[in-house]
Amino acid sequence: MSESSSLIVDVVAIRRQAGSRFDHTTRASVGETSVGDVDVDDGMVDVDLLVEAVIRGLTVSGTVRAHWSGPCRRCLVPIEGDVESELHEIFEAEPTEGETWPIVDERIDLTPSVREAVMLSLPLAPLCRDSCRGPEPDRFPTGLPDDDESSGDPRWAALDEIRFDQ
Ligand SMILES: [Zn+2]
Repeated sequence: MSESSSLIVDVVAIRRQAGSRFDHTTRASVGETSVGDVDVDDGMVDVDLLVEAVIRGLTVSGTVRAHWSGPCRRCLVPIEGDVESELHEIFEAEPTEGETWPIVDERIDLTPSVREAVMLSLPLAPLCRDSCRGPEPDRFPTGLPDDDESSGDPRWAALDEIRFDQ
């Protein structure tokens, strides 16, 4: 099976009985995937999914991972990183537009839902470091302090932790 088709999954066997399930773990390309200047390298994603038959169709859940690269939004140096996101989707023979995905000829194509999950997890404005002030900080003052130590109101400390955790 080629890489491009390993996200197309035959579900005829498990659809015979609700509750049947199998793991689908693979590395495949979902095609060009980018947000702004941030690109997933070769469109390659690693998926680790559980496909399970339910009364009216199938559920697919698990994790999707990808490696991206792109320029720092402030200084434009090339940077890269990894993203991981959760996927929870429903596939039905008669899908609801915008909510569930189709089962066609007893197969499901995971490509669009996986691509969407990766796309939503890509950084919109990546920075080489949180304190990056760009190549000419005097010319483009950002108002940022020289380091990331947040001074001041302790009530914001929890928020800072969340923000810089990624
Ligand atoms: Zn930078």
